[in-house]
Amino acid sequence: MGIAQKYSIAYHAMTKGHHSLDVAVDGELFREMESTEVKDAACDVHIEVERMESGLNLQVAITGKAVVECDRCLEDCDIPIDFNGELAVRFSDTVSDYDGEQMWIAQGEELSLAQYIYESIIISLPYRRVHADGECNPDMLARFTPANNE
Ligand SMILES: [Zn+2]
Repeated sequence: MGIAQKYSIAYHAMTKGHHSLDVAVDGELFREMESTEVKDAACDVHIEVERMESGLNLQVAITGKAVVECDRCLEDCDIPIDFNGELAVRFSDTVSDYDGEQMWIAQGEELSLAQYIYESIIISLPYRRVHADGECNPDMLARFTPANNE
């Protein structure tokens, strides 16, 4: 199963009203998207769906962790992820560009949240990505710090 399918919303079968679904994110999403920042991930995505005639309103909560390279010691570093977002999906024959908050798809077209979830985790990453103080690999730090500096 490709990532587009794994994160697709099977809205065709949904009745109007509320639905909720959960999907797990792992490192595959970031490998498939060829991310240079995120090496691995383990997140739960909870999606509340409001199915309407004209489209869908989605509330997306992503919690878990992403593994990135520590800015200080370059070893793997877990970054907690806690994202909440809303996405409006509208059915339209004239499909406009996805702008991060509203997505237009043709009625019947597959709706995949792979791109949305990927971007949401990327924007959740802090600017500075380091281990907590004292948790960097001391051997790695020593290699980057001149010996006479401390
Ligand atoms: Zn570190």
